[in-house]
Amino acid sequence: MNIVLLGPPGAGKGTQAKRLEDKFGLVQLSTGDMLRAAVASGSELGQKARSIMEAGQLVPDELVIALISQRLDQPDAQNGVILDGFPRTTAQAGALDRMLTDKGLKLDYVIEMKVDDALLIDRISGRYTCAKCGEGYHDRNKKPKVAGVCDRCGSREFKRRPDDNANTVRTRLDAYHRQTAPILPYYRAKGVLQSVDGMASIDAVTKALARILSGQPAVAPAAKAAKKAARPKRVAKAARRPAGGGKARRPAKAKPARKARPKAAQKRPAKPRGKKKL
Ligand code: ADP
Ligand code: ADP
Ligand code: ZN
Repeated sequence: MNIVLLGPPGAGKGTQAKRLEDKFGLVQLSTGDMLRAAVASGSELGQKARSIMEAGQLVPDELVIALISQRLDQPDAQNGVILDGFPRTTAQAGALDRMLTDKGLKLDYVIEMKVDDALLIDRISGRYTCAKCGEGYHDRNKKPKVAGVCDRCGSREFKRRPDDNANTVRTRLDAYHRQTAPILPYYRAKGVLQSVDGMASIDAVTKALARILSGQPAVAPAAKAAKKAARPKRVAKAARRPAGGGKARRPAKAKPARKARPKAAQKRPAKPRGKKKL
């Protein structure tokens, strides 16, 4: 299975790609990570990309297309990949189609992660990662369980990206709207586009993505509410009792609903009325 996670910077692509890697046995291919590795190594590609990335603009198509094409030829990519941050222009989307066809591969899903711009600025300004294993964190939304210690590898070193600042973020959001969002209609027309609410919690987004990748239709919030309302609240005692007269076992899904107490009854009385019975 090959999928594309499409969304603005800070939408949660990297966070979710890492979770889906484990869940579905796929490999995350992040052009941002590859380009940052090239910059760190001082390679020719890195030297070309550095200032463009720092300014929040897009690296030329031919460079990222070549990077992805080579990466797709590696043995670990044959079982399926999650493309994170590629394609980002219509030219890259066209090139991806051609290279997948040439390599005998197929694009199964393109999933758009929708998040409002106002929230993205906060997501990006608060983002940091473990310097050793790359696990992603956020100043408020996702702190390590033990302060200052990576949940995944125990390292105490963290880093922030030089392009994760309020100024560059605006340029990057602008690049997304002008250059990347126009590829959505292309994938919609091909019938592979799905979308999830990227404003939901990290766990809720993972669930929505897993649902899509398991081939189940995405549940719209309205349809979800209707389904819940239609679910039987109580299972009659007789229906629960096995025919043989043995001990009744409660069916796993049909827990009897608790009767809601009226609001007034939920309030504690101001003074205790006598001694509590033990
Ligand atoms: P992207 O790869 O799309 O640029 P990231 O996965 O790096 O985005 O997420 C950006 C920041 O937002 C990170 O600090 C991450 O911990 C946080 N984050 C990701 N998803 C959510 C979410 N659903 N709710 C709250 N914070 C999130
Ligand atoms: P984010 O997920 O926060 O948008 P990425 O890590 O995907 O950031 O990308 C960081 C930077 O790397 C981008 O701002 C851009 O300069 C460059 N880059 C990454 N992927 C591409 C791509 N497919 N095409 C052009 N430039 C890219
Ligand atoms: Zn770590």
